Amino acid sequence: MNSRRKRATNLNNYDVIVVGAGPAGSTAARACSMNGLKTLLLEKEAIPRDKRCAGGISNGALKELGFKLPEELVERRCSGMLAIQGRIKNEVHEGHTVATMVTRSGFDAFLSDKAKSAGVEIQANENCLSVKRKDSGVEVTTSGRQYLSNIVIGADGVHSRVAKTFRPPFTHDELRYCLTADIPLPESGINEILPDKVVFHYGYIDLGYAWLFPKKDYISAGIGGAFTQSKNLKRKFIEFLKLHELDLNVKPKGCLIPITNFKNDVYTDRIMLAGDAAGFVDCFSGEGIRFAIASGRIAAETAVKAHRENNYSRDVLKSYQDRFYSGFKDDLKCSTFMSRISFRYPNMLLGTFIMRDEVISNYYKVMSAEMSFRKYFKWLVLKTPGYLLKRIFGK
Ligand SMILES: Cc1cc2nc3c(=O)[nH]c(=O)nc-3n(C[C@H](O)[C@H](O)[C@H](O)COP(=O)(O)OP(=O)(O)OC[C@H]3O[C@@H](n4cnc5c(N)ncnc54)[C@H](O)[C@@H]3O)c2cc1C
Repeated sequence: MNSRRKRATNLNNYDVIVVGAGPAGSTAARACSMNGLKTLLLEKEAIPRDKRCAGGISNGALKELGFKLPEELVERRCSGMLAIQGRIKNEVHEGHTVATMVTRSGFDAFLSDKAKSAGVEIQANENCLSVKRKDSGVEVTTSGRQYLSNIVIGADGVHSRVAKTFRPPFTHDELRYCLTADIPLPESGINEILPDKVVFHYGYIDLGYAWLFPKKDYISAGIGGAFTQSKNLKRKFIEFLKLHELDLNVKPKGCLIPITNFKNDVYTDRIMLAGDAAGFVDCFSGEGIRFAIASGRIAAETAVKAHRENNYSRDVLKSYQDRFYSGFKDDLKCSTFMSRISFRYPNMLLGTFIMRDEVISNYYKVMSAEMSFRKYFKWLVLKTPGYLLKRIFGK
């Protein structure tokens, strides 16, 4: 018997297959299984796996999680930020946590463990190689096996193989390029220089910034912005590290952040995309974990509905996109607009904003899902001096 026929007779059947065990995939798989769906979660890496990320969990993301983060996963709690643009510096602290620091390998492994406890079958070290829609279901072929499922949720990140089966890849405009490095330091050293704050340093790159996020015994440093400016990024990153007196002997790794322009649907017959695979990241801050978790949950709820109705067509799955967009599209679009205009006039706009405490304090509210980005933006426009508004809007 040739291997192809052998595979075809050995198809394992599932109600849902989720590809990718990041926050989007593990959340989606867990919610599917908790609702009685026979669920398989495929991950190409061994778990825990490394993920290039600053590992800042906003209060908005914590709310989306729906359960308390175990204390052992918390590296540090930050109550403030130091924002820098040119010669302008401002440090604003709230009386409470504004960002919870984690290491992504541990955080993501915890989420996939939660999915496993909810009954999800997890296959790690299985690279999804192809996804084919058929009348009988979706055929998923991995490095080792072949599966059949009624629905596939593609949560396989920025390079999503699932997305490639029905929509064009992200354009350069929809991508941000980053370099990151973890810089080990004794805990006491971090307590001295960066105990409970994150650093955002603007001006190094268009449509982005350089950052320092403190963990227990290392600092997650990075720089990221417009894809087209990736050429001299290493030099700028080293300049940034030098300025903050950090170890220059690091080997930064490159990675991408996707920012959707909402031109392509994130669903088709039998398939939905969640998290980075769909480009659900805040353009201004680069925050994606909150939207990955939210989209994973909504995709799962839609899969449950499709299962109950025994209808996996795009007409039914459309409600996934509609629901996610009604909750988050406006915020994501406002953040993209905010990013465009503030980086067009970095000194004038970012500088003016940064030096005012209330601008930063209200931004914390956006990150905590206490204020919509639109409301923040309107408030900011009212606070912006008239001469700047004239420059921006040409009135
Ligand atoms: C440098 C950087 C810093 C960031 N910092 C922050 C931050 O501080 N806070 C924040 O909220 N967001 C941050 N983000 C964004 C955040 O990391 C992402 O938005 C988030 O990880 C998206 O989650 P996800 O589950 O959609 O995808 P991912 O976390 O990328 O998970 C996708 C998973 O799919 C797996 N996979 C891929 N292909 C296949 C395949 N063919 N078969 C099987 N499995 C596959 C991958 O191995 C991976 O485990 C940052 C991003 C970058 C690049």
